[in-house]
Amino acid sequence: MSLKEFAIVDTTLREGEQFYKTNFSSQDKIEIARQLSDFGTEYIELTSPFASPGSRTDCETIAKMGLKSKIITHIRCTKEDAILAIDTGVSGINFFAPSSKHHGKTNAGKQDSQILEEIINVLRFTREQAPGIKIRFSLEDTFRAPVDKLSKIYMAIGKSGLVDRLGITDTVGIALPHDIEKVVTLLKSLGQKEIEFHGHNDTQSAVINSYAALKAGATHIDTSVLGIGERNGITSLAGFIARMYSLEADLIKAKYNLDQFKKLHTTVARIVGIDIPFNHPIVGESAFIHKAGIHTNAVILNPKSYEIIDPADFDELRTILIAHKLTGWNAIKNRAEKFKLTFEDNEIKEIALKIKKMADEENITLKSVDKILIANYEKKQDRQMKAQNSPKKKY
Ligand SMILES: [Zn+2]
Repeated sequence: MSLKEFAIVDTTLREGEQFYKTNFSSQDKIEIARQLSDFGTEYIELTSPFASPGSRTDCETIAKMGLKSKIITHIRCTKEDAILAIDTGVSGINFFAPSSKHHGKTNAGKQDSQILEEIINVLRFTREQAPGIKIRFSLEDTFRAPVDKLSKIYMAIGKSGLVDRLGITDTVGIALPHDIEKVVTLLKSLGQKEIEFHGHNDTQSAVINSYAALKAGATHIDTSVLGIGERNGITSLAGFIARMYSLEADLIKAKYNLDQFKKLHTTVARIVGIDIPFNHPIVGESAFIHKAGIHTNAVILNPKSYEIIDPADFDELRTILIAHKLTGWNAIKNRAEKFKLTFEDNEIKEIALKIKKMADEENITLKSVDKILIANYEKKQDRQMKAQNSPKKKY
């Protein structure tokens, strides 16, 4: 599987609804769904219509919006949920069932073969009711389940020909990239073509684990805007896009409308009532700010020296900070040139030293740097004028 063929299943409107601060109204969901589609995520996953009457009507409304993204919903593996999901008009259903001993309550006392039979029955029923619907099946908490159980269930479901895609789920964020590689390889060995990965971020590994899944042969990655979800969330859309852009920039530019990226993040942050974290990839406040003298000097000459992502591709601006003690004379010179203030290098070095000394004493601003530059330029001009007007020495 080439890294070029992947699809994003954005679950801001399902997993993101499980974020502790989220309480989306129908209008919020419509706005976010439209913006996700404008950005270009291939799928938008919605909360189960079984969750509440409002969730049901939201599924129906969003499924009818005619968005470019495919609309799917995430439900338990029961006939009851399946009937409701099909009725909403979504184009796909993501089924999930518990797998590990930590989630065995609903399956307590049941043999694996009995659980499997029940799952297959629901999948067959769904396929009969809605032959055209896309079906994904995944086991919750895949990475804490015994491997023999996993292969038995996935093999039987894969062989049944009832599903379009199998999903693996790092529900608690425990998996390491090599664990994911192992399970994806197992699924591939069963002849499974479409594999989806859903990874939680409890150990800040969700983005790299998503990449590991793709590299091993997965095809679909779950994300949410700002990574919102249960506890500290899942693979963030921005983290995943940044990861993939660093490897395949042209592909990412062709696949998604990157100029919609900031708007989408600002919208979700506003609706949820949080700030975009300052260090969030691409859209965080500090993502394209350069400060240290060595960095600013290099970035002015060649942005690629300290940037793997071109901010312009995302309609973002690069900022060079110069009003601080770590400033460099090249960055000060660059600022002076913006105002057409010309200095010799030795002069600008002296000015930079003045600025550093000032910053050692107090917090300074760009305004104070500009004032110093202008004052020094005026002094220089005065000196030059005086030199020109002074009477020539007589010999
Ligand atoms: Zn999750």
